[in-house]
Amino acid sequence: MRTIAVGTFRGIPVRIHAGALVIAGLVAWIVGSSVLPQFVPGASTAGYLVGGAVAGAGVLGSILAHEAAHAIVARRHGVPVKSITLWLLGGVAHLEDEAPSPRAEAQIAGVGPLTSIVVAATLGGLGLMLGSIGVAPLAAATFLWLALINGVLAVFNLLPGAPLDGGRLLRAWLWKRSGDKDRAAARATSVGRVVGLSVVGLGAIELLVLGNFGGLWTAFIGWFLYGAAGQEARAGKIAAGLGDRRMREVMSPLPTSVPDWSPVADLLAAPPYGASRVLAVDFGGDPSAVVELDQVARLIRTARRPDGGALRIKDLPLASPVEVDGDRPAIEALRTHAGKPVIVTADGRPIGVVAEPELARAVALHHLERQADDDPFVRAA
Ligand SMILES: [Zn+2]
Repeated sequence: MRTIAVGTFRGIPVRIHAGALVIAGLVAWIVGSSVLPQFVPGASTAGYLVGGAVAGAGVLGSILAHEAAHAIVARRHGVPVKSITLWLLGGVAHLEDEAPSPRAEAQIAGVGPLTSIVVAATLGGLGLMLGSIGVAPLAAATFLWLALINGVLAVFNLLPGAPLDGGRLLRAWLWKRSGDKDRAAARATSVGRVVGLSVVGLGAIELLVLGNFGGLWTAFIGWFLYGAAGQEARAGKIAAGLGDRRMREVMSPLPTSVPDWSPVADLLAAPPYGASRVLAVDFGGDPSAVVELDQVARLIRTARRPDGGALRIKDLPLASPVEVDGDRPAIEALRTHAGKPVIVTADGRPIGVVAEPELARAVALHHLERQADDDPFVRAA
């Protein structure tokens, strides 16, 4: 699903996921049609509708407050923030860099849940005050409900597995204790997977033992966390593997080029033994795709069939490569162009390629380096 730009916060673009709007609408509906009528019976339909709408918008506002807090503190520590996205299950402040120290990491991570707790306490206090003097009971109930949601937001985010804030706090603590950031990150993502699976288990118990269909939602969130922890573990390994190397240091040389309008059948009839990939180029001679040969069979299966004529290389579902100067730091360039193959250039001319295999190699080589550091048997050799 798509994200929609909704404005900027102190110069940081704020985007909202279409799914988050659906969820906010659903929240407005549930609060307006069943939560408020249950706790404040006898109010007007218009009152319930307004209360529901405030609750729906309030959920988005609460997530924004949480993410904005991360963003502000990140900036204060010199970590640039690319954007804030309000997402299906919460939000993400996209930081362009890692925290410079365990202390900074802990502060950036901790301030989100802290903000949610402060919002919960403020709205809760306001709701209780209104309730005790018997004024505006619908507003009081809506505030109390939003206080509860912010409390849940804080507690959920404090679960100790990456990529949740609690996982970042865990990483900061392990990092400070051992001085080894990469290992701390790996440990935090492992715990994140365990947390994700535990949440799936809770959802299953909720569904199967208590017969509550909300368990499906819980299980879904757990599964999502499990996947996110896995992704983060991989990203962490790649970051550690690339270190502060430049693009030209991690690239492979340019592979043999083939015209991208040539039939895939030609490639299959005479596979270029000794090569693991080819560079597809367009009529102008510019790179149009990096074709990993071990992926071609899979690509053919998912290719859109041409309206006649043979399947050409340019018909394969391949991401267009981006060009990046060879002197740029690899980790920074790859973070910007996540997932796309990179043509590395020198003075604007292509000199090499960085794609999945190069990242896998960087991870493997880093592993090797560590082994050499750790193992006296290897070191002595
Ligand atoms: Zn957070």
